[in-house]
Amino acid sequence: MAMVNIRRDVEDKFYRYKMPLLQIKVEGRGNGIKTVVPNMEDIARALNRPPTYPTKYFGCELGAQTSMANDRYIVNGAHTADRLRELLDSFIEQFVLCPSCKNPETELVITGKSGHEDMHRDCKACGRQNGVNMRHKLVAYILKNPVKKKEKGKKGKKGGMTAEANVGGPMVFEKGAEDGSGEDEDASPSGTPAPGDQGVPTTGTDIDDVLGRSDPVLGNPDEAEEVSKKLAKTDLNGDDDEDEDADSPYALLGGWLEDNKDASDADIIEKIKEYGIAGKYKVLVEIGHHLFSDEVAKEITKRIPLIQALVTSEKHQKGLLGGLERLLALSPNSDALLAAGTTSKVLMELYQADILDEEFVKNWGTHVSKKYVDKEKSKKVRKSADAFLKWLDEADDESESE
Ligand SMILES: [Zn+2]
Repeated sequence: MAMVNIRRDVEDKFYRYKMPLLQIKVEGRGNGIKTVVPNMEDIARALNRPPTYPTKYFGCELGAQTSMANDRYIVNGAHTADRLRELLDSFIEQFVLCPSCKNPETELVITGKSGHEDMHRDCKACGRQNGVNMRHKLVAYILKNPVKKKEKGKKGKKGGMTAEANVGGPMVFEKGAEDGSGEDEDASPSGTPAPGDQGVPTTGTDIDDVLGRSDPVLGNPDEAEEVSKKLAKTDLNGDDDEDEDADSPYALLGGWLEDNKDASDADIIEKIKEYGIAGKYKVLVEIGHHLFSDEVAKEITKRIPLIQALVTSEKHQKGLLGGLERLLALSPNSDALLAAGTTSKVLMELYQADILDEEFVKNWGTHVSKKYVDKEKSKKVRKSADAFLKWLDEADDESESE
């Protein structure tokens, strides 16, 4: 799926907020001609808005009828992809981006009594609240079709940062833009969101989570199909990290680490707590990927106490190595780094500090995985661990012959 920056005026390819490029399909002919946006749900999810909002926005701007039933998002008439992309940009500008800091991590919050509502964008990044143009036609639609705050329990995103932050808030459009698609008047006739809409954890941590949390919805054939589709996308290694939303607490932590590589261990731990993900193994993925630079072989030494504090299970070890694997594989200097045996040096540090178990690291070294990087890269990273793995084997032989 082609991804573009949510702010298409930003050309930086490392800009962290991405959405799928809007696609269209023109169907029918004559008076019945219509433009379908097949990936509207994915786009909306990236924007943390229900898919009905941008669709309705298109309708308002184009003076066209929209239809938003059965997860199909349609604007009547024939429209070009370019035109809809431009309109999407202006939807984002007016209803998503924080006008103060231009960050897309906002929620629409409605305050005031019926008939006198006010709506603003509540920015998670800078904390400011900015209004929207209350005269825009979409506002009336949103007021009529708000995403009510629901008790979601364990469903939806892990970490629960925003859910917690929202407690006591007035009426909040939750993270996880799928919420509320079922509340649209044009959508499901029952008016209640199907559990599958939000219950299928695309950001689950592993297959057990996915299977476990999917069970309750398997009763309904449609939902069962939906679940099996999602499961098909999730390979048995728990290879679901691509689905990680740009607004997940992990992505936020990664971004913060990237900008604060010099932060003290205490500050980093504070930040992890702030994001509500203390103790999670995925924290280690972010640490491995974003706290270090090409100089990781040197830098890792001073972070040993931090890593020791954070790694509490084999899963955490795996996460850490996954993150480091990404760091090494995705660096522009990857080949040189790997050729210099950087993986070996890093593993040695971690092993000597008792962060990695011998059995675990041997197993890791001999099993290529495409969970964190593609297979070829994964192979190269492990190849770069040869010296260390060989050393481990030899150390074993020596102790046996003694
Ligand atoms: Zn802001």
